[in-house]
Amino acid sequence: MNASRLRQEVQFRGVGVHSGEACQVTVAPGPDSSGCWMEREGQRWACLADSVVDVERCTVLGNGQASVSTVEHLFAALAALSIYDCEIRVTGPEIPILDGSALPFIQGLKPFLETGLAIEPLELGQPLWVGNEQSQVLALPSPVCRFHYSLYYPQTPIGYQEASYEPLIECFEQKLAPARTFALEREVEWLRANGLARGGSLDNALVVLADGFSSPLRLEQEMARHKCLDLMGDLYLLGRPLLAQVFAVKAGHRWHVELARKMLRELAENAG
Ligand SMILES: [Zn+2]
Repeated sequence: MNASRLRQEVQFRGVGVHSGEACQVTVAPGPDSSGCWMEREGQRWACLADSVVDVERCTVLGNGQASVSTVEHLFAALAALSIYDCEIRVTGPEIPILDGSALPFIQGLKPFLETGLAIEPLELGQPLWVGNEQSQVLALPSPVCRFHYSLYYPQTPIGYQEASYEPLIECFEQKLAPARTFALEREVEWLRANGLARGGSLDNALVVLADGFSSPLRLEQEMARHKCLDLMGDLYLLGRPLLAQVFAVKAGHRWHVELARKMLRELAENAG
């Protein structure tokens, strides 16, 4: 499979959606086959599922002494651009939320891509499943890569939505990247009351009201597409492209990351 490398470093600045603090991230080229690494406050860790320290409202990576939240939208962009060797330096507790989607990351990184690298994809030896009664993610061995997401929020304007995406065939920039972070209005009240979503605003999130949305939708099925984007971002924690079909039903970061961990475990067992 083809991979890309960055020609130069690229910087993004903005507010962190959960902390409300000013954050800055620099994505720099890394040596070939070195993998993706993250650094904050003198601490450094591999961007792999083992480095996940929290999955409650977003995906948080760290090493016990430092951590960085909300990595998923940047990682979705890196996965879509096939950048697997890079150094990510972060100032502040989060990756900036920017407009709540992956589009600004794609637009910032894309002009500095160099193609022509090869990378071995991760292939599944058997079907894998994670989940509980409400949420499931199923991954099936397949010669093609395809992500499918469905979600159901009864009695809200979201209702039932589904989205699917084939990375090697479809255009990420058009199909998934513009889909924004969303939250239900009653969730936003709870988050605020608990000191979360301090940097959340109508410029970086779509709020689902009782009778509509806080701003016009950018895409049909925007929420399902955003969840598909989150799934891709979390599966970037495999460290290489995935060759499988993944079906997610009303899942979230917890289950996406659990699946990535299970895949890496299975791979290690088969190798050993
Ligand atoms: Zn998201």
